[in-house]
Amino acid sequence: MKALVKETAAPGFALRDVPEPRIRENEVLIRVRRAGVCGTDVHIHDWDDWASSRCRPPFIVGHEFAGDVVEAGRLVTDVKEGDRVTAEGHIVDGRCLLCRTGNAHVCPFTRIIGVDRDGCFAEYIAMPATNVWHLDDTISYDIGGIHDPMGNAFHTALTADIPGATVLVTGCGPIGIFAVGICRAAGASRVIASDINQRRLELAKHMGAHDVVTPDEARDVVMRATGGLGVDVVLEMSGVPSAIHQAFELVRVGGRVQMLGIPVKPIEIDLPREVIFKGITIYGVVGRRMYDTWHQMTRFLRAGEFDPSPVITHRFPMSEAAEAIAAIKSGDAGKVIFEIA
Ligand code: NAD
Ligand code: ZN
Repeated sequence: MKALVKETAAPGFALRDVPEPRIRENEVLIRVRRAGVCGTDVHIHDWDDWASSRCRPPFIVGHEFAGDVVEAGRLVTDVKEGDRVTAEGHIVDGRCLLCRTGNAHVCPFTRIIGVDRDGCFAEYIAMPATNVWHLDDTISYDIGGIHDPMGNAFHTALTADIPGATVLVTGCGPIGIFAVGICRAAGASRVIASDINQRRLELAKHMGAHDVVTPDEARDVVMRATGGLGVDVVLEMSGVPSAIHQAFELVRVGGRVQMLGIPVKPIEIDLPREVIFKGITIYGVVGRRMYDTWHQMTRFLRAGEFDPSPVITHRFPMSEAAEAIAAIKSGDAGKVIFEIA
């Protein structure tokens, strides 16, 4: 089969013919139709410090996908040939304290497809049946293929108290833009979205943001919208230090900051002023809750109040991986996907 392979400890991906994966008794083989390209893939492509410290080439890249099942292992009971599916890409041990207390999203033994083992930028992928998620007939492979980052946005938004809330979303990358639409569907009374990029602010507006602002404008707009109080909830989705400080500044006393964005290096925080004496709650987001987030996501999609399709702005074949990476780096893309079959 054709696959995008991280072959060596150096920048780039190679499109190669590789053997089809063989499944174990508890796994299924999935023909990949669509796969989302993400910032993590850019790190692996560029072979930066994070990638070189984490990944061990050679391996097949990619962790966001949808497709259909072509073979199921002997022990698999509820997934069968022909099923249309996506999958949770974090493979957990299922046995540790975290897994067995409903917190598998922070399982210390997590292995991620396309990072720690072979991924989905390939014609076929083998997945444990426990990680497989069925798609409704009405959900396209396009949307199935972006359940992973959309799930990050659902996790970030829905672990806060959104109905009626005033919300600031700092950072309108693909996940921030999803979050804007999710907050609207979940009944936020005011959604303010900030970014430095006008194209992305347009997408945020299209997804239902009441106000779209640059970081310079954010303070005035938030204070005017909240009677000088600050917002109830900030979804920090940029990972940029100045935006993180702004999140602490613009959340109201007693409010909540949901932290998804990942700063590239440690940052200094004035804890008494920014956190403690404001009495705020900070929640660190890791991936998607298994499987509360997945159920919530499916139900929101079924209800039809949240349509993620405008977020997909670019599509490429795997042979144009360099173009796909360039589209993400340009900053002008929403979600970039590969059309594989
Ligand atoms: P992204 O990294 O492209 O989005 C970041 C956005 O922030 C960009 O649009 C950028 O223009 C904007 N930005 C830059 N400076 C800003 C500022 N001062 N104020 C407001 N916005 C600003 O794309 P993404 O894929 O949506 O990822 C968002 C973040 O989430 C990244 O940091 C990524 O690493 C992280 N992430 C975390 C998890 C997790 O499980 N915690 C999972 C996936 C991604
Ligand atoms: Zn575990």
